[in-house]
Amino acid sequence: MRASRFPLFTSKETPADAEIVSHQLMLRAGMIEKLGAGLYTWQPLGLRVMRRVEQVVREEMDAIGGLEVLMPAVQPAELWQESGRWSQYGPELLRLKDRHERDFCIGPTHEEVITDYLRRELRSYRQLPLTYYQIQTKFRDEIRPRFGVMRAREFVMKDAYSFHMDEASLQQTYDDMRAAYARIFTRLGLEFRPVGADTGAIGGSVSEEFMVLADSGEDEIAICERCDYAANTELAASRPPLPEREPALSAEEKPTPGIQTVAEQAEVLGIRPEQVVKSVVVMADEVPAVLFVAGDDELNLVKAGHALGAGEVRLAEPEEALEATGVPRGFIGPKGLPQGLTVLVDERAAGLANFSSGAGRADWHWVNLNWDRDMPLPPVADLRTVRAGEGCPRCEGRLAIRRGIEVGHIFQLGTKYSEAMDARVLDENGEQLPLRMGCYGIGVSRVVAAAIEQNHDAHGIVWPEPLAPFRVALVSLNAHKSEAVADAAARLYDELTAAGLEPFWDDRPARPGVKFADMELIGLPHRLVVGERGVAAGTVEYRGRRDSESRDVPVAEVVDFLR
Ligand code: ATP
Ligand code: MG
Ligand code: MG
Ligand code: MG
Repeated sequence: MRASRFPLFTSKETPADAEIVSHQLMLRAGMIEKLGAGLYTWQPLGLRVMRRVEQVVREEMDAIGGLEVLMPAVQPAELWQESGRWSQYGPELLRLKDRHERDFCIGPTHEEVITDYLRRELRSYRQLPLTYYQIQTKFRDEIRPRFGVMRAREFVMKDAYSFHMDEASLQQTYDDMRAAYARIFTRLGLEFRPVGADTGAIGGSVSEEFMVLADSGEDEIAICERCDYAANTELAASRPPLPEREPALSAEEKPTPGIQTVAEQAEVLGIRPEQVVKSVVVMADEVPAVLFVAGDDELNLVKAGHALGAGEVRLAEPEEALEATGVPRGFIGPKGLPQGLTVLVDERAAGLANFSSGAGRADWHWVNLNWDRDMPLPPVADLRTVRAGEGCPRCEGRLAIRRGIEVGHIFQLGTKYSEAMDARVLDENGEQLPLRMGCYGIGVSRVVAAAIEQNHDAHGIVWPEPLAPFRVALVSLNAHKSEAVADAAARLYDELTAAGLEPFWDDRPARPGVKFADMELIGLPHRLVVGERGVAAGTVEYRGRRDSESRDVPVAEVVDFLR
């Protein structure tokens, strides 16, 4: 490719609203262009990188027997009503009506659609196990889209779904997927970590996230310094494995004297459950307590605090509580909500309550997410696992807290969807059994941003070779003034192209400094400079993107040198 036919829309200025480096560099390099909140056009340069990610993902999915499909982005509400998620999913689900006033949504994920497909088509248990995957645009009406494509509303995901007759088969595919994910992120040159995870709105039992380690990551992970224990602190802290309901906690285990449930904590604070915006379990003065952020009926106020013992209440500064519970600043304010939409969720109880109201919308509706008033507070031992420096739950090691970007997530769903949607198959004894399912996502577009978070320097992006939009930057100096340089560059360009080295020839009549800066900004791994001095000596100047010095390489050897 040549710059004269592939315009680089680069820019020197750091965009004011881009907070993290990947967002800044993707805009500056001309990879993406913002259309609206959480909506981006992938420019040709950016799309080439995303296609590289897709390619690796496809190869590894195919290698473990995945079958590629493409499902509609728009999904009928009926399927979501069947699974129960129409009412559970909350305002992240973009709902719409067609001209016949029928309800639809734009798919944030595709469990319902794939389950519907298989329940119609599957003929025999002998056809199992089966794994399907697609690479497709998803839509989630994120409450706070930010960081560019890292947390967009429209984004590209690889989502895969597997179907099985029994647990052993599900476990096998889950393990294969886990290994495939490790190969994918290794091939893409990312430093990553699989961690134990919460199952969130997707549901199910076993689940792990693949985290790219980066300080800008929105997730916090507890990593044992000694054994291989690693967990999202969302799981390790605010969502410990819930203790058995029966028998009740013994007197010694009772975490907060007199207060045993989340509801009781709320009551002591004078908070009604529906006022809760978010709550997390925290250690307060060595006692587990639920920290709440709450609003009034119209969500015009913030109240925050935790109850310590019977009757003892401590109000926290709203700022501090927002920080601790991760509720975005500006989420609730003195004049209501910036976007007119509110979610009240308690993530620990799989949604305490979910309340959405729309400014400018007539309807206020309640969605009850199985709020369990009697849910016990977790025992102290479970809570301690998140604190940096405390004892790992598996060994004697210390826990370190790191930040990560969730690039992949794998789940064992069991029969959650197949039971709800009646997806069954006859087994060898003629019995109708619900299918067992797994689901497996990769944030394909997010991976591009995550890779930049890990690979950049003061001059721009430093692509790992497998992700680079072009492998070699070929810079010709003053070719418009020197025919010898123009000819040598053209010859080299042809040679590199023929050798499959995917050169990007900066043939613009621009100053050398401008070209060098652009090639560094867009992060191509190798740079060759063709200038008059080199042409006379039969050499080109080579510099790797991470090198601090250039060196001369004989023209005749360049292709071999790069291969
Ligand atoms: P997050 O915790 O970041 O909101 P999630 O747990 O809601 O992500 P999943 O339902 O597990 O996301 O979806 C699978 C993958 O899709 C995630 O691991 C992530 O890489 C990607 N993803 C999810 N939401 C977004 C988004 N808003 N923008 C870009 N990628 C996303
Ligand atoms: Mg999410
Ligand atoms: Mg997540
Ligand atoms: Mg997830």
